[in-house]
Amino acid sequence: MAGLKLTHIYKVYPNGVKAVNDFTMEIEDKEFIVFVGPSGCGKSTTLRMIAGLEEITAGELKIGDAIVNDVEPKDRDIAMVFQNYALYPHMTVYENMAFGLKLRKMPKDQIDQKVREAAEILGITEYLQRKPKAMSGGQRQRVALGRAIVREPKVFLLDEPLSNLDAKLRTQMRSEISKLHHKLQTTFIYVTHDQVEAMTMGTRIVVMKDGFIQQIDSPRNLYNFPGNKFVAGFIGTPQMNFFNGRLKLDGDTVTVSLDGTGVALKAAANIFDKTDLAYLDGEKPVIIGLRAEHLSIGGGAAESTAKCRVTHLEELGTECLVYADFNLEKEDGVSESNTRVIIKAPAGTEYEIGEVIDVSFNLTYVKAFDAETEDSIIPRIPANVVVDAEIKGGKLKMLGANIALPSAINVADGKYTVKIPVAAITLGGSVKTQTEQVENVNGKLLAHIRAGNRTIFSLVRDAEEAEKAQGVSIDLKRITISDANGAVWSPVPETSALDGKLVRNVVTSVEETDGRKKTVKEAVYSVNVCGHDMICGLDLVRRLVSGAGTEIFRKDLKLEFAPDVPRLGESGVEAKVEEILDFGDEKFAKCTVGEKTVFVKSSDLEVNQTVYFTLDPEKLAITEAQRDIRLT
Ligand code: ADP
Repeated sequence: MAGLKLTHIYKVYPNGVKAVNDFTMEIEDKEFIVFVGPSGCGKSTTLRMIAGLEEITAGELKIGDAIVNDVEPKDRDIAMVFQNYALYPHMTVYENMAFGLKLRKMPKDQIDQKVREAAEILGITEYLQRKPKAMSGGQRQRVALGRAIVREPKVFLLDEPLSNLDAKLRTQMRSEISKLHHKLQTTFIYVTHDQVEAMTMGTRIVVMKDGFIQQIDSPRNLYNFPGNKFVAGFIGTPQMNFFNGRLKLDGDTVTVSLDGTGVALKAAANIFDKTDLAYLDGEKPVIIGLRAEHLSIGGGAAESTAKCRVTHLEELGTECLVYADFNLEKEDGVSESNTRVIIKAPAGTEYEIGEVIDVSFNLTYVKAFDAETEDSIIPRIPANVVVDAEIKGGKLKMLGANIALPSAINVADGKYTVKIPVAAITLGGSVKTQTEQVENVNGKLLAHIRAGNRTIFSLVRDAEEAEKAQGVSIDLKRITISDANGAVWSPVPETSALDGKLVRNVVTSVEETDGRKKTVKEAVYSVNVCGHDMICGLDLVRRLVSGAGTEIFRKDLKLEFAPDVPRLGESGVEAKVEEILDFGDEKFAKCTVGEKTVFVKSSDLEVNQTVYFTLDPEKLAITEAQRDIRLT
């Protein structure tokens, strides 16, 4: 039994295909994790890297507490089950299951016990003396599972194990594998392209596309809170209806209009509490998403009803899918378009093709996505809140408070909008607030806080404390102040970046033991930045080398660091101070290093001063520049 930790895992195939990008997740012991996504998204590659069948290009893989990047597959304590069962045709079921244990020289009586136990669990005891060819696909897959079970691995890896089976058997084996997971109480990682398999089996699902993780969540959360349009469309059948549209906030309602349909519906404004106001101006194009089960046939309230024309019916026995089109003139409405809609209706629903019907919308479940990035604009944890503000005489009036501006923020009097990262809002402070609720989002506590006439959000540690809190403070160095033409004040960047290289130097020293002198050579590694070597610990060197191979010494590295990382001193990287940003309790120097800008936190620097700093390599986020591979 073991958990796994994948950190910045990449796979670049020799032909240059970047199959897996920055795969980072922790899998807890006993979880049933499913990797799902369309063909070619990198699921199998990730699984095969975990198995050790595919080399990891960069990143760190831990099984239990051990780093296993360089551990042979047979020593990783995992068992893998494939789509083609790969049974030995000349051996009986018993021999197939015993084979791996025999190779390991396990005593016969122990093998016998393990094979019989596994056969019992899988219900194949009566077939132990049969050959695979005399068995059905489902039975063979059970034997393949049995062969994995007898090894008592820490982790089971299953790569599309059911895709050779017919639909009925697949459903049956699905529940058998779930039961098996329950019985064995071991970590399972399961790869499939079938979202139904993923939804029915996984405790958590990793949705992948084009080599990137899209979302990691429980089946229910993926369905209810898809993080982007891809996940929304991939999970659930029939596919979610998508429409190009606009949103307009007006008091306590938001008008949802669907482009090119004449449909305009009213939703409660609180559905969009977490949405950036810029999306609610009635102009900005967005993508509206609504599942077929959140639409119903028949008129409801006028503001949530529209007319459409039936183009096709799919009777499924348990329900009937009605395909219709908001464009009442359109003939073909079956293929996906911006006016087509699929509605889930009760079984036995009958309409004439071409009939015009009323459809009503349950907008409580409406989803909305950015038209370009396709990310959800109703995120569960919003990144920012945007509020109206006024600056007058050095004070920032927003959220019902009057906040003194530090001298760093020198902005003319006037009206502005202020973007505040949710991470910059913390409990306890002078902005008067009242906590409305504390929401648990996958273990993170998000407080909904009323301030002035707005609801803002803060990630909190303790729900009770958050409920009692009567004020928040806002970290002003992280806000953005904008007028109609754009930003007039931008936050202090969280990180600065410089280029560097990993270098190896051989240092010679003379040691004296018992009066005899001996020359000792020792390799010293450092990260070189602008000609200065910063000594690098061996653990870090190992991580970098295991990440990018020994070629790392020839590669350009991008080094990112927070403003409190540079250590000022007599020597090191030379920088010129261009500007001091004074926030009262904290000061930052905006410096130039060659052509680059670097922010340094320090309270005693002056404009135009030349300073020198060093960087602790352990505190850098290091990326291999050319292939854009994050190493630490
Ligand atoms: P999935 O399991 O999600 O279908 P894979 O992990 O098999 O996807 O493949 C991910 C990507 O890597 C695809 O673009 C595929 O063509 C490519 N790929 C897989 N194996 C190799 C290989 N041995 N050499 C080069 N490219 C590969």
